[in-house]
Amino acid sequence: MKQEPTEHEPTAGVTAPVIIVGAGHSGVAVAAGLRARGWEGGILLLEAEKETPYERPPLSKELLKEGAPDESAVLRKEKFYEDKRIDRFRGITAESIDRKGATVLLSDGSRHAYHRLVIATGSRARPLTVPGAELAGVQSLRTRDDALELKRLLVRGARVAIIGAGYIGLEVAAAAAAKGCEVTVLEFQDRVMSRVTSEPVSRHFERLHEQHGVRFIFGAAVTAIEGDERAECVVTADGTAVRADVVLAGIGVLPNQELAAEAGLECRDGILVDGDGRTSDPAIYATGDVTRFTSPIDGASQRLECIQNAQAQADRVAAHITGQHAAVPEIPWFWTVQHGVRLQTAGVRHPEDDVIVRGVPADGRFSVVYLRAGRLAAVDTIAGLTDFRPARKLIAQGARIDPTLAADPGIPLTDAIPTDANPTDPNPADADPVTARI
Ligand code: NAP
Repeated sequence: MKQEPTEHEPTAGVTAPVIIVGAGHSGVAVAAGLRARGWEGGILLLEAEKETPYERPPLSKELLKEGAPDESAVLRKEKFYEDKRIDRFRGITAESIDRKGATVLLSDGSRHAYHRLVIATGSRARPLTVPGAELAGVQSLRTRDDALELKRLLVRGARVAIIGAGYIGLEVAAAAAAKGCEVTVLEFQDRVMSRVTSEPVSRHFERLHEQHGVRFIFGAAVTAIEGDERAECVVTADGTAVRADVVLAGIGVLPNQELAAEAGLECRDGILVDGDGRTSDPAIYATGDVTRFTSPIDGASQRLECIQNAQAQADRVAAHITGQHAAVPEIPWFWTVQHGVRLQTAGVRHPEDDVIVRGVPADGRFSVVYLRAGRLAAVDTIAGLTDFRPARKLIAQGARIDPTLAADPGIPLTDAIPTDANPTDPNPADADPVTARI
């Protein structure tokens, strides 16, 4: 059935709506942000899924638990969309963009003019491409349907092979172990979460998982899934065979940038945007997991896969469309919970950063500080948030940190400043204005 947006009083002289492609955290936040900032024109939200847009973090955590309700929290109640006059096309995607005519063609065959277009298409699970990946019992985890299917399969005694020891793999490993499954995690690298954290944190979480019965195989290159209709076994390059009733691939994500790339917008593992979320076409914005941009903190080119970024970028887009100032960019942050232990990270670590452990990992509660050229770049907090808030502030200031003082958990991080630090020492964050460019 063809759906038409309802008519609204446009913002001075604007007749076409802002069309938002994608109703994840970022797309919904743009819609909400536009109304919060006084946008009176039409807003059309294209939702690829048919259900009310929902929170994703519970999909790999709470939702998988024994007895947990199948519903995960919605991002906004239905009434919010009605009250804020946000038109929604459910189960409909954007197929192509006519930039010259400023229109977008939808999957139901209708074409709609836009005043501004916002691409918030997110990312999709990187597919496993080995022989047997199509067998029943092999899956990835991105949507609520994926999570519900996985939940059904995670029963006591099930043999679960997880490919990839990233956030998804480890959160599911914890949920599966708690349900009495026999869990094996196969990972390319020689430690868990190598993309996002340092070795001391990896080792701590490996021990934690092992205490709950999870087995790891590192340096594992999966070459095939074997089975007769259903998955029965995961095979690696060195001939190891892991028996499995359920196989979960948590091997990263790919940005859903095809709509933008086919329209000729600049893309490089993500749609390139500036600090206001503008793409290479001034009438088109992009926000969330699908974007690549220059960090206003350290000038690195980055694609951030986190909710904090999805929301902060959405606010910048809403601000720019309405001609207002956005808030100062926030320090990105991330969290995961595995076997009840929370890892929370402020800032983005680089592999070459100096690593300083604050506290004793064996105590179960500690932090890890990352220094880049003597300045605080990121902090991991494990099972305690004492260092988290000060860390975000110090990272934003580009604060110099004394490694010896920082290693002493008895000294607050805010006091771990070198005694010879010159307060007028230029801060790279100041030198590099927040209006980051591609
Ligand atoms: P991820 O964090 O990138 O981890 C994937 C891991 O799998 C990497 O260590 C990767 O190693 C490894 N890998 C890749 N291909 C492999 C293969 N063929 N065999 C074995 N290992 C392989 O991605 P993810 O865990 O799949 O998470 C997907 C997305 O969901 C991310 O955006 C993540 O941020 C998000 N998420 C976040 C949270 C959270 O914040 N708590 C929770 C769940 C999901 P290489 O680095 O060598 O490729």
